[in-house]
Amino acid sequence: MSTKILISGASIAGPALAHWLGRYGFEVTVVELAPALRDGGQDVDFRGRTHLTVLERMGVLDELRALGTGGSPMTFVDADGRRLLHLPAEFAGGDVEVPRGELAQLLHRHSGSRAEYVFGDSIAALEETPGGVRVTFRHAAPREFDLVIGADGLHSNVRRLAFGPEERYVRHLGYYAATWQLPNDLGLPVGSVGLNVPGRLMSVGASHRDPSRAGAFCLFASPELRYDRHDPAQQKALVRAAFAGLGWRVPELLESLDAAPEPYFDSISRADVPSWSNGRIALIGDAACGATIGGMGTGTAVVAAYVLAGELARARGDHRTAFERYERLLRDYARGCQKGGDRTGPFLAPRTKTGLRLRNAVLNRRWALDKMLELGKEVSSVELPDYGVELAGTVGSVG
Ligand SMILES: Cc1cc2nc3c(=O)[nH]c(=O)nc-3n(C[C@H](O)[C@H](O)[C@H](O)COP(=O)(O)OP(=O)(O)OC[C@H]3O[C@@H](n4cnc5c(N)ncnc54)[C@H](O)[C@@H]3O)c2cc1C
Repeated sequence: MSTKILISGASIAGPALAHWLGRYGFEVTVVELAPALRDGGQDVDFRGRTHLTVLERMGVLDELRALGTGGSPMTFVDADGRRLLHLPAEFAGGDVEVPRGELAQLLHRHSGSRAEYVFGDSIAALEETPGGVRVTFRHAAPREFDLVIGADGLHSNVRRLAFGPEERYVRHLGYYAATWQLPNDLGLPVGSVGLNVPGRLMSVGASHRDPSRAGAFCLFASPELRYDRHDPAQQKALVRAAFAGLGWRVPELLESLDAAPEPYFDSISRADVPSWSNGRIALIGDAACGATIGGMGTGTAVVAAYVLAGELARARGDHRTAFERYERLLRDYARGCQKGGDRTGPFLAPRTKTGLRLRNAVLNRRWALDKMLELGKEVSSVELPDYGVELAGTVGSVG
């Protein structure tokens, strides 16, 4: 029976999985590369009945609602500041929207008493043995686990070690995105305003929590770029180059990017992994089926944590049965959600003037917006087992 489980990554999928596994009595360790829980990133949203049901079953929905931003309206303008399109708060905000860092903290808080968290370390090697997985860490002494789960994001370390190189699984979708924090010296209101020209969007809005702070977001069309993912200076230079020569507030926003200590920068990419498990090692969240932005990655990660832990508990740690059912229940669902990510770049920054005009003409109509919102809720919904009912009496006794 598999009871000792190592999770790599403490952002959203990792702590959500640790929460459930700990509740079912598994012995859980989470290893995170960063020296502490990572803050930052945009606000992330949950939408539709499946996301809300899972959050309710976790016992975090009320807390999340209390943390909720209420969503952020988005306004797109041209170089002269003329309004091109306005999207209401619920468009990006879904049913509950929270700052990504606050969600990570909440999930960490809820799982912390039932899991061991190790920060500032990373898995260096994985060796599957007949009875488990021998794990070598960069810093800590080697340890044996029954199972290892990669919850370490789009550029997953576990996937690289156990499934093969990233190029095999991650497909660049033609855009890059960045977010960063800045002082709200411009007196901006909550909700974002963004300059939109073909292939580029640069936006900014006041923070929901602290009106003296603001969050900037940009997105630009580009073929795949070579850069060091751990070097913010290189990433800042790429954003600068992409937005050079643009007016509106772009020059001052680029200056604020130079001063930002920890911007988030990534390509808009999709992870397609033909099988989410390999022996005793499995993937969850962006590592398995990420789509960077617009693919409901956060909601899918939380749903997947519920299912993977539920199936492991139901199979009493028989990982073959559990991994197989986990993937069967969620693969099509996750693919459906990911498709939203395929469209994010072309939607936020169409590459041509005609594309931009067409998008604005359609979405300035309320019925078209409502249709898109309805579709989002449908896509994010799936029938799930009620593990609480199925496992009644066994919770806490798996080990
Ligand atoms: C700091 C940050 C900011 C983000 N900002 C945005 C944003 O603005 N917009 C957006 O759409 N999405 C953003 N995301 C991604 C978003 O959180 C995910 O798409 C989604 O929530 C699914 O989460 P995940 O837990 O699967 O992956 P992620 O949230 O990507 O988390 C992966 C975790 O694994 C850790 N990790 C990476 N490598 C290793 C390793 N070798 N060993 C151990 N741990 C490792 C990372 O530090 C991170 O904590 C951000 C993620 C992070 C970490």
